[in-house]
Amino acid sequence: MKLFHTATELTTWVKAKKKKGLSIGFCPTMGALHQGHLSLIQQSQKENDLSICSIFVNPTQFDNPTDLEKYPNTLDQDITLLESINCDTLYLPTVLDLYPGGTHSSTFDFNGLDQVMEGAFRDNHFNGVGTVVNRLFRISQPNKAYFGEKDFQQLQIIRKLVDLESLPIEIIGVAIHREADGLAMSSRNLRLSKAQRNAAPFIYKSLKKAKEMAQELDFETIKKSIKKDFSNSELKLEYFTICEEHRLIESKQREEGKKYRAFIAAYAGKIRLIDNLQIH
Ligand code: AMP
Repeated sequence: MKLFHTATELTTWVKAKKKKGLSIGFCPTMGALHQGHLSLIQQSQKENDLSICSIFVNPTQFDNPTDLEKYPNTLDQDITLLESINCDTLYLPTVLDLYPGGTHSSTFDFNGLDQVMEGAFRDNHFNGVGTVVNRLFRISQPNKAYFGEKDFQQLQIIRKLVDLESLPIEIIGVAIHREADGLAMSSRNLRLSKAQRNAAPFIYKSLKKAKEMAQELDFETIKKSIKKDFSNSELKLEYFTICEEHRLIESKQREEGKKYRAFIAAYAGKIRLIDNLQIH
């Protein structure tokens, strides 16, 4: 696997490959890789001649300094995992590479997509994400870029970002990879105690229940029921909401021809977990 530490080196390499007619797929991550991340890269490998993974823990998307400090760093293991699936290229940028003018985020008009859910609960989060992904896209110049539906709101915001910045990159959403008991794979799962790990699959169970209820019941009834379930559980619910997929506007009732998705953020102790499921 080729390793790049600087933007100039990577851009030069990409330009040379594209000149030869080779296509590039790009999968940005924050490391502590698991099978969910690898599924992004594996899809990229199927659809492109060359695939680049990046690992960078982006400071501007954290509103909680402890979360940033405690973000797991498992670089040696990440490299072994990437090599095990024959990933072509790993980009490990420096802070200076991505933030030459200092670690500040730009402000984007995401047309309200950033105002709900993660945006409502994590101050300036999506401006931070938009800033780093915009810069990574300009450095890696991919034909396609891969993002997990695990962070569905982020995926829709990245689609909006390429539109706003007129970047010729196709954004591909990849299905959520889960543990056998349904818990969505996440780097944060490493921080769960045994008891918290046992409690955490309740999130996916609740999403499946919401999907089942949506066959017959209205969204308000579903919301009340799920919220009540959480109040009797070991997890602390931050939000449960049902949104129309495209605009991410909270929906009270369904409209013909639209797709809906249920979203949950909940705490297991101090660990914040998110998940979502298409319900209609
Ligand atoms: P992260 O390292 O958490 O920033 O994630 C990097 C990318 O991997 C993002 O596009 C995530 O949505 C995606 N991802 C993380 N966990 C999963 C998962 N369990 N299934 C699919 N994609 C995931």
